[in-house]
Amino acid sequence: MASEYLVEVQGLKKYFTKTSGLFKKTEKHIKAVDNVSFGIRPGETLGLVGESGCGKSTTGRTILKLYEPTGGKLLYNGEDITHLNDKQMLPYRKRMQMIFQDPYASLNSRMTISDIIGEAIDTHNVASSTDEREHIIASLLQRVGLMKDHASRYPHEFSGGQRQRIGIARALAVNPEFIICDEPISALDVSIQAQVVNMLEEIQAETGMGYLFIAHDLSMVKHISNRIGVMYLGNLVEIGGSDDVYCEPAHPYTKALLSAIPIPDPTSEKSKSRIILQGDVPSPLNPPSGCRFRTRCQYCMERCSVEEPTLHTINGEHQVACHLYDK
Ligand code: SF4
Repeated sequence: MASEYLVEVQGLKKYFTKTSGLFKKTEKHIKAVDNVSFGIRPGETLGLVGESGCGKSTTGRTILKLYEPTGGKLLYNGEDITHLNDKQMLPYRKRMQMIFQDPYASLNSRMTISDIIGEAIDTHNVASSTDEREHIIASLLQRVGLMKDHASRYPHEFSGGQRQRIGIARALAVNPEFIICDEPISALDVSIQAQVVNMLEEIQAETGMGYLFIAHDLSMVKHISNRIGVMYLGNLVEIGGSDDVYCEPAHPYTKALLSAIPIPDPTSEKSKSRIILQGDVPSPLNPPSGCRFRTRCQYCMERCSVEEPTLHTINGEHQVACHLYDK
């Protein structure tokens, strides 16, 4: 069925089971992702932000079915891929790739760069001959700003920024239509971050790929994202156009995240009021009833502890899950 979205999740859930007690008979569910819905159009970047442990990376990994979804639906170009097995997923794995956060851990230190990039080419039969394979690897290295003779070297011979470029080349090797960028710049020096983001933007402009760009900081996703989604404790609490979420945040949690971003101008920085969130993120093993943010929310009302807010539209594509905006 035709869909405006390249990738869509509908009510996505991913629960992990934790066992404890004698004979491990007591089971508890960690609701890492709970009833999350959004879509990503071709050529669009959706930024997904939230504190560590909010479920954003689990959402990305569940979309690729590196984790089996516990509930909800995964759609690719309108086709339901939720229950496909590994073999059935193979063509979709070629179309959906991932760039990982840690450019040190995500590359096998015993493999040459040629083998690392070539592995994906071989798995998906992208090259019809050894010459073509070498040619693809050389042009990918050049595309990400490295040299073709880097192919015979090992990961430890490169800097963090160069390793992340190798990770990007590996993702591009199979001509994907969609890439999950899982905190691709968090481990890099600030001076290198902009270079990597600019390169990802150029590649997107050339290819029309869709990105899910995961980050813990709203300032990191503002520049690259068309839309931004904010997650808290497994829930999507706000989603909307990048300018709407960044300039007119609606959810108290988004406002707090934004208020924590330093402003380069010292005068504006001084006059800015910072919202200090009380306490830590509660355990996903035992999340608060009603609104999961209520234990840290300065606007918490009686109904917030009994009624779970759901996303509803406040303006165009801008949606928020908070009782303050209920009509
Ligand atoms: Fe705060 Fe209530 Fe809104 Fe949750 S629903 S963010 S507790 S006001």
